[in-house]
Amino acid sequence: MHITVIGSGYVGTTIAACFAEFGHEVTAIDIDEDIVATLNDGEAPITEPGLDDLLETHAGDRLTATTSYDAVPESDVTFLAIGTPSNDDGSIDLGALEAAAEATGEALREKSERHLVVIKSTVTPPGIPEKLEPAIRNGADNNDAVEVGMNPEFLREGSAVTDFQNPDKLVFGTNSEWASNRLHEVFEPVLNAETPVVETDPQTAAMIKYANNAFLASKISLVNDLGNICKEFGLDAYEVMEAIGLDDRISEQFLRSGVGWGGSCFPKDVNAIITAAREEDYDPALLEAAIEINDRQPRRMLELLTNHVELQGARIAVLGLSFKPNTDDIRNSRAIPVIEALRSHGADVTAYDPVAADEMADRFPDIDYAPTAADALRDADGTLIVTDWDELRELDTEFDEMATPVVIDGRRCIERRNGIVYEGLTW
Ligand code: NAD
Repeated sequence: MHITVIGSGYVGTTIAACFAEFGHEVTAIDIDEDIVATLNDGEAPITEPGLDDLLETHAGDRLTATTSYDAVPESDVTFLAIGTPSNDDGSIDLGALEAAAEATGEALREKSERHLVVIKSTVTPPGIPEKLEPAIRNGADNNDAVEVGMNPEFLREGSAVTDFQNPDKLVFGTNSEWASNRLHEVFEPVLNAETPVVETDPQTAAMIKYANNAFLASKISLVNDLGNICKEFGLDAYEVMEAIGLDDRISEQFLRSGVGWGGSCFPKDVNAIITAAREEDYDPALLEAAIEINDRQPRRMLELLTNHVELQGARIAVLGLSFKPNTDDIRNSRAIPVIEALRSHGADVTAYDPVAADEMADRFPDIDYAPTAADALRDADGTLIVTDWDELRELDTEFDEMATPVVIDGRRCIERRNGIVYEGLTW
């Protein structure tokens, strides 16, 4: 098949490279010329394990990138993987996606064979009939050959390639058997007896994505709430969570308490579904509490630090800046409120991350960035571990070089040891 993927960010690049690996011919479209040039050079515009190899193999062959929408009518299926960032009120900004949807429709005006446009971006259910379908249809001048479907994405940054190639489930939101069959053809290489395919309508498919993320984010917030209570009692939340994870109804996953969830999806999606629910006059109390608990965790890290270090004029190392390991994505990383709080208390910050320092330097240009974790720790008056990169787990004698060896661990990255003052956030 020939597939067009519009938007070459974290999701678009990953799925374009994986579709090429499946054996499809892929055209990746983005308005950003630098991203297009990078892809055509066979390089990944983002850090994601396995992506460089796929692009090196397929760029210039089965995968080409361009800024033009000309390939859309030549292809069999078009995926829209455009960002849907938060507005200030928590709702999602559909502007970029609507523009791409309209341009896609325009490219399909003259198309006579049926063509499926699949929304890959995360959008609230009402956004499909109210905004996106009209944008595609108006662009296409109501060409009946154009159909719209929804195929939400569940990959996780940091393991995006493996997740996409080994999905727990596929959700096909379509309005016709033909559209569903097209999606089966696209995903044929990963479909096997063990891959559940949920066949539904586009709006239910969109809601499944929100329910999925709202559930996971709330699960972590619940674990963090319980973890904070454990800490108050002087107990180890990890021991408690390990035990409850043995209950099949709970499962052992997502029970690691810590400094909270971030990234481009959980905060945006939980806020979006809260705002969309409020527009229907529904008060989503549990989801609001999940956000409140998440906002609390970075503040609790600072409280623990101030029990040991006077922050005014102190030099504090912040280890880990990306929102989770194995990605350079800092969107809504917990490091951001942590750094903001440190600075508001008059501390000097030296930050370290294996890949995300440049991204963070755009956000905080006037803090120090160390080339290694050891450099960040040297002479520091305290350190906060914010992201559980594997290499941070290896740190040992480096802590001895600190001026005051106070370690507040937000991810249970290292163990208590002699010679350092160690505080776990919930243990
Ligand atoms: P992103 O911001 O990384 O990428 C979006 C890309 O779209 C950018 O490269 C941008 O230049 C491009 N773009 C914007 N307008 C365009 C236009 N008119 N034509 C062509 N390209 C255009 O976004 P992302 O993280 O890949 O997320 C995309 C969607 O997928 C979002 O709705 C997100 O919620 C959802 N999603 C993301 C993840 C994730 O882990 N990042 C996981 C599942 C779902």
